[in-house]
Amino acid sequence: MVKIVSSYDVVIVGAGPAGATAAKFLSEKGVKVLLLDKNRFPRDKPCGGVLSVKTLKRFSYISEELISSYSFGGRIYSSSQNHHIEVQLEKPIAAFVVRKDFDHGLVQLAVKSGTSFRDGVSATDIQILKEKAIVRLDNGDSVESELVIGADGVWSMIAKKSGLGQHYPYVGRCLYEEIPYAQNVLDEHFTKKRTFQMYLKFRGVYGFGWVAPKKDCVNVGIGEIQSTGSQRTKHSLQELYHEYLHFLKEHKLIPTIISPGKTQGGFLPLHPLDKTFADRILLCGDAAGQMNPLTGDGIHYAMSAGKFAADTCAMAIESSKTNASFLSKYQTLWKNDFGEEMKLCGRVLKMLLKGNRDEKYIRLLSRDQQIVDLLLTMATEGRIQEYQWKIIRRFVSLYVRDFFGL
Ligand SMILES: Cc1cc2nc3c(=O)[nH]c(=O)nc-3n(C[C@H](O)[C@H](O)[C@H](O)COP(=O)(O)OP(=O)(O)OC[C@H]3O[C@@H](n4cnc5c(N)ncnc54)[C@H](O)[C@@H]3O)c2cc1C
Repeated sequence: MVKIVSSYDVVIVGAGPAGATAAKFLSEKGVKVLLLDKNRFPRDKPCGGVLSVKTLKRFSYISEELISSYSFGGRIYSSSQNHHIEVQLEKPIAAFVVRKDFDHGLVQLAVKSGTSFRDGVSATDIQILKEKAIVRLDNGDSVESELVIGADGVWSMIAKKSGLGQHYPYVGRCLYEEIPYAQNVLDEHFTKKRTFQMYLKFRGVYGFGWVAPKKDCVNVGIGEIQSTGSQRTKHSLQELYHEYLHFLKEHKLIPTIISPGKTQGGFLPLHPLDKTFADRILLCGDAAGQMNPLTGDGIHYAMSAGKFAADTCAMAIESSKTNASFLSKYQTLWKNDFGEEMKLCGRVLKMLLKGNRDEKYIRLLSRDQQIVDLLLTMATEGRIQEYQWKIIRRFVSLYVRDFFGL
C-alpha cells in the first residue's frame, strides 16, 4: 500500500545546480514545487569549481557571496609540457566556487522563492500513471505530482527507471583534492589573478589535469576518458594522480603542501542522452548528460537546462499537457541553446587528444595570440556559431604557413 504524504505540481529529484535552478524559476512562476536530495545540505560535490563568465552573465543573481575568487588568466600545456598557450586578461575569465557553498546558496534562493526543500531523503523509484506521477522515497513515503524533473546526477535513478538512460560508451573519470592554504601563500604563488593551469594528456593519458587556485585552497585534479567498464591495469587513476601531484610539487607549480586535502573521485558524462523527456518526466544536468566534453564544464549547462525545464513545466502545468509530445519542447530549447556547442567541443576533444596532435596544435596556437583571444572569447561568451569559422580559417592558415616553414 503506497503512502502518499503530499502532492505537488512538480517534484524535482536532486538539488544540485540543475535541480535548484529549475526549482527557483518554477517557484517564481507560482508553481508548487518539492525539491528533494539524498544528501544533507550543505553537501560537497566532486568538482573543480570553475564557473564560466557566461554563467555569471546568464544568471546574474549569482551573488559575490557564492564566489570564492576569480581567475584572470590561465596556461594550457601540451603533453610534453614543451609548449603552452597563455591568456592573461584585465577582466576575469572564470570564477571559482566552492561547491558546498555554491550549491547550498542556489538551494536557499529556491527556498526563498517558495520551493519546499527536503534533504537527507533519497528517491528510490518512480511510477508514471495516466493521471499523475508518484515518486517513492527511502523512508517509505511517496509524493505525487503532475511532473517530475530528474536532476539526480550522472547515475540518475530517474533516467534509469524511466528508460531514458542509456549506456554511456565513454565517461570521464576524475580524481581531485582541495588543498587548503593560507590566502597570502596563494597570493604570493598564483598572484591575486589566480592563474589556472591545464595539462593535456599528462603522461600520455587520454584526458587532462588541472590546477584551480581559489581563495584559500587549490583544487588539483586529473581526469581520464575511459570506456565504461574498463579496468585500468597499468596505472590506476590513483597512481596517475599521485604522479601528477608529485610533478606539480617538483616543478613548484603549486606551493609546498603543509596539510593535504582528501582525494575524491567523480564521473563526467561525455555526451547528452538521445532523449531527455518522457510522459510527465524531464531530465536535466548530468542526469541528461549535458556537459561540455572538452572542458568538463557542467554547471553552466545544468543551470541552463534547469531554466529550460522550468519554463517547459510551467507551460505544461498551465495548459494541462504533461505528455511526452508537449514536453519535447524542452529538448528543442536546450538543443537550440547549447546542443551544437556540445557536438563541436566533442569533435575538438577527439582531434586534440588523438596521437600526439596536442603537441603540434598547442605549438601552433602559442605563436598566434589573436587566435587564442578568439578561442577565449568564444569559450567565455559561448557564441560558438559566430566564432567557429573565423577560428577554423585562421587555424588552417597557421597550419599551412607552418607546413611551408613560413
Ligand atoms: C571531478 C569533477 C570535476 C568537475 N569540475 C567542474 C568544473 O570545474 N566546472 C564545472 O562547471 N563542472 C565541473 N564538473 C561537472 C559538474 O560537477 C556537474 O556537471 C554538475 O554538478 C551537474 O549538476 P547537476 O545538478 O546536474 O548534478 P549534481 O551536481 O551531481 O547534483 C545531483 C544531486 O542529486 C542528488 N541525488 C542523486 N540521486 C538522488 C536520489 N536518488 N534521490 C535524491 N537525490 C539524489 C545528489 O545528492 C546531488 O546533490 C566536474 C565534475 C567532476 C566529477
